[in-house]
Amino acid sequence: MGRLTAVAIDTDQMVDWMGRFADEMAEHRQELVRLDTAIGDGDHGTNMDRGMKKAVAKLQESPPSDPGAALKAVAMALISSVGGAAGPLYGTLFLQMGTALGSAPEVDLSAYVGAWRKGLEGVQARGKAQAGDKTMVDALIPAVGALEAASDLDSGLQAAAEAAEAGMKATIPLVARKGRASYLGERSQDHQDPGATSTYYLFKSAAEALAG
Ligand code: ADP
Ligand code: MG
Repeated sequence: MGRLTAVAIDTDQMVDWMGRFADEMAEHRQELVRLDTAIGDGDHGTNMDRGMKKAVAKLQESPPSDPGAALKAVAMALISSVGGAAGPLYGTLFLQMGTALGSAPEVDLSAYVGAWRKGLEGVQARGKAQAGDKTMVDALIPAVGALEAASDLDSGLQAAAEAAEAGMKATIPLVARKGRASYLGERSQDHQDPGATSTYYLFKSAAEALAG
C-alpha cells in the first residue's frame, strides 16, 4: 500500500524519477526532433534520448548511495555524452541540484526546492538566458516558483508540472534571444521551444515518480 502523501524523496525514488524522464525522452524523441527542426538543427530529441539512456545505464551499473549522488551521476552522463547546448545545460542543472542535496539520505520539500533553485541558477549562469528568451528557462522559472510557493511536496510537484507546461506553451509566440533559434530572429515565432518542452517532461515525470 502506498503512502497517502509524500514527505521525503529517497534514493530509489530519485532513480525512478530519472528512469521515467528517460522514458519520456524516448517516447517524445520525434516530437522534440520536430520542434528542433523548425527552429534549430533537429537534434534535441536524439540528444536527450541518447543522454538519458546513458544516464540510466550508469545508475544501473553503479547504484548511487544517496539522492544527490543519483543526480550527479546523471549530470556526468549527460555532460560526457551530449553535445550542443542542452547537454551541458541539463548537466549543469543536475550537477547543481545533486551538489545542493549533499549526501542526505532523504530529501524533503525544502531541500528539493533549494536544489531546484540552485539548478536554475546554474543553468542561467551558464547559458545567460532570462525569462522570455524562449529557452528551457521559460519552463524552469515558473515551475521552480510553483514549488517554492507550495506547502507540501505532493501539491508542489503537481503545481510545478502545471506551471512548466504553461511556461512551455508560452514560448510559442516568443522571439528567441538565446541559442540556435535566435539566429532565425522573428522567424522563430509561432514555434514551441524544444528545450522548454523537454523541461516540461522533466517536471511531469517528477510529479509521477515523487508524489505519494
Ligand atoms: P543545440 O541548440 O546545440 O542543437 P539542443 O537542440 O539539444 O542543442 O537544445 C536546444 C535547446 O536548448 C533550446 O530549445 C533551448 O531551450 C535550450 N537552450 C539553448 N541555448 C540556451 C541558453 N543559452 N540558455 C538556456 N537554454 C538554452
Ligand atoms: Mg538542436
